[in-house]
Amino acid sequence: MDPEDKARKVLDILEKEFPDARTALEFKNPLELLIATILSAQATDKLVNKVSGALFKKYRTASDYAEAGLEGLEKDISSINFYRNKAKNIKACCGKLVSEFGGKVPDTLEALVSLPGVGRKTANIVLGNAFGRNALAVDTHVKRVAGRLGLTSSDDPDRIEADLTAIIPPERWTKTTHLFILHGRKTCKAVNPDCPNCPIQAYSVYFREVYSKGNAQRRGRAGLMPRSRRGPGLAFDEARVIAAGLQ
Ligand code: SF4
Repeated sequence: MDPEDKARKVLDILEKEFPDARTALEFKNPLELLIATILSAQATDKLVNKVSGALFKKYRTASDYAEAGLEGLEKDISSINFYRNKAKNIKACCGKLVSEFGGKVPDTLEALVSLPGVGRKTANIVLGNAFGRNALAVDTHVKRVAGRLGLTSSDDPDRIEADLTAIIPPERWTKTTHLFILHGRKTCKAVNPDCPNCPIQAYSVYFREVYSKGNAQRRGRAGLMPRSRRGPGLAFDEARVIAAGLQ
């Protein structure tokens, strides 16, 4: 199957699985999403939303952040990990927004990645969700799901973005990020992915490899069988049937 076809079929299935796929971060304008995305690095969206409610009431413009005392800003986000570094980045980022962009969040990738603390992932999240542009952001879930599906062979997020945008039509880029993140959280987890119950297992290179004949031991060690079906004989026979169907 060619990669474009595989990506299309995977996305069709995941769109049915997650019909309301969107970012879980709460925001009302591009600045709020930019700040929320900076805060969300290695933090849950739920925690970010909890903190951002009060934060966005206190700081309404880029100038508010730029002119804030660093210690006060740190305190306002102190329940989020790496808060010192994040406060420093938010302040510097908003300082540049004020000095070079009239206090507005720019709507191009080039301008966004020129801001302190803003990489391609953050820039693409802002472009795709606050500006409605076609933008594919590669986070840890997108990276893992794309790799296991065999849609990329790279570990480098920039390369993964290039590989995915080469085979997925632009109008699906933003949604692809949400769908892969949701699938990564629900089923294709980093440890013990629920492959036997995965709706896109037929397109997964990882599934094919782990469930191929002779890999029963590895599969058992990885804990890939659902508990309800983890009887040794049944699990192996079942996997062989599935694997045979894929060849
Ligand atoms: S079959 Fe397993 S590894 Fe492949 S996409 Fe599904 S959950 Fe992920």
